[in-house]
Amino acid sequence: MTNVSRAESGRASLEPRRDGHDPEAGPTAGELAVSFEFFPPTDPEMEVTLWNSVRRLSLLAPRFVSVTYGADGSTRDRTLEIVQKLRADTSLAVAPHVTSIGSSRADILGLARHYWASGIRHLVALRGDPPSATGRTCAPSDTFRWGLDLVRGLRSVAEFDISVAAYPETHPEARSARDDLDNLRAKIDAGATRAITQFFFDNGAYLRFRDACVAAGVSVPVVPGILPINRFSQVQRFARRCGATIPAWISKRFDGLDEDAETGRLLGAAVAVEQVEHLQRHGVRHFHFYTLNRADVTYAICYALGIRPRMAAVRTTA
Ligand SMILES: Cc1cc2nc3c(=O)[nH]c(=O)nc-3n(C[C@H](O)[C@H](O)[C@H](O)COP(=O)(O)OP(=O)(O)OC[C@H]3O[C@@H](n4cnc5c(N)ncnc54)[C@H](O)[C@@H]3O)c2cc1C
Repeated sequence: MTNVSRAESGRASLEPRRDGHDPEAGPTAGELAVSFEFFPPTDPEMEVTLWNSVRRLSLLAPRFVSVTYGADGSTRDRTLEIVQKLRADTSLAVAPHVTSIGSSRADILGLARHYWASGIRHLVALRGDPPSATGRTCAPSDTFRWGLDLVRGLRSVAEFDISVAAYPETHPEARSARDDLDNLRAKIDAGATRAITQFFFDNGAYLRFRDACVAAGVSVPVVPGILPINRFSQVQRFARRCGATIPAWISKRFDGLDEDAETGRLLGAAVAVEQVEHLQRHGVRHFHFYTLNRADVTYAICYALGIRPRMAAVRTTA
């Protein structure tokens, strides 16, 4: 698909008022589920932010919370620390990410055994991106080279519930969209139980991808990954890196707001609410939020979806 047609399809699919969307209509039938991604903080201030966010978002009784893992294992200890604390201090279901690039098979299998022994039953299995900063590498023969190899490896350890990555706008390295879809299908056939998508803003791309998954025999849920826009310039950078289209109408909304973070954040929340409500009307019942460790916008979006606090706040200390 060309960039122009991508932008057009984004407008058509995401401008809700044109297709009769009523923001007051509330959720349609069916139980909604949400899950939240966090990342290991790098300094004490960010750590306080993380645990405040966990406390607040835990009220919404997420299906699970996931914790990212730096490619090449660079955040291994910090990921483990956060996962352990979440397990010890909360009743949340925790899904650690495991990335294989730059780590030996033995290390990955050891980590998986450790997780299983400590009661973790859900992993998010990813190849990871080649390390740019650390340059740490591993002999190809000694690694799980692709996400598919990693899924097979993790399944050899135990009956984990395994989520894998999916790409509505095709992974940048894929030879073709068809190849990328075949790769997803292979990961599911190897035992993955759920796909979580790369973030996107073009709902049309996601809905077409979901149809293509069904046609290709992918029978597991393909959960949309939602990235609330907090700082537009940051999201533009992320989107360039992973090939996500930003529809022209969204760029227009943030026009001239580079120095006005507060208005940008409010608009970001509004865009995400439109996005999830539109998906909800297309039958989506599970949303995975890339929280960037911030609770406020994600909490507001969930609230707009009709999700209300259901759990007592967890007690955690930063
Ligand atoms: C939900 C989600 C969570 C993420 N969490 C993290 C994280 O915690 N840490 C992190 O570092 N990154 C994370 N990422 C990013 C992810 O690691 C990158 O997108 C990575 O480049 C691909 O990972 P994958 O598991 O999809 O790889 P794969 O499934 O291996 O696919 C990677 C690419 O290789 C192609 N391919 C697959 N098999 C072959 C083959 N045999 N021959 C040729 N080409 C092939 C695929 O089509 C695709 O283009 C996440 C992404 C998502 C969507």
